[in-house]
Amino acid sequence: MSDCIFCKIIAGEFGTEILGETEHTVAFRDINPEMPVHLLVVPKLHCRDVTELAQSNPAALIEIAQLATKLAEQHTTDGSFKLVFNTGSNAGQTVFHAHAHVLSTEPKSA
Ligand code: AMP
Ligand code: ZN
Repeated sequence: MSDCIFCKIIAGEFGTEILGETEHTVAFRDINPEMPVHLLVVPKLHCRDVTELAQSNPAALIEIAQLATKLAEQHTTDGSFKLVFNTGSNAGQTVFHAHAHVLSTEPKSA
């Protein structure tokens, strides 16, 4: 989608650092972190939200969980994390390209 911010990130238009990748997903830092660890995992193919993703691309949904787990092992003290899919504007979704927030209050020290 030409006017989708996450499609542009995936296409490399902003030079966003990609923290991890699977066949169908990529991960990068949230630009406005709400916790010390706040990453996003998104499907490479545009779709609106996790409901549509579960229908159209279930492999990507599984990979989101797998990549979130790997990122949490790399970025948090003990691998614990929250995985949040805001779905619909009344639930706080603001970017309508499906994405999971990977959140933790316990960043791994460098
Ligand atoms: P949501 O409110 O669930 O739709 O989450 C959208 C998230 O995308 C927010 O936490 C934003 O901070 C984040 N965001 C918006 N634009 C960018 C960007 N260019 N790079 C990284 N994260 C972004
Ligand atoms: Zn998109």
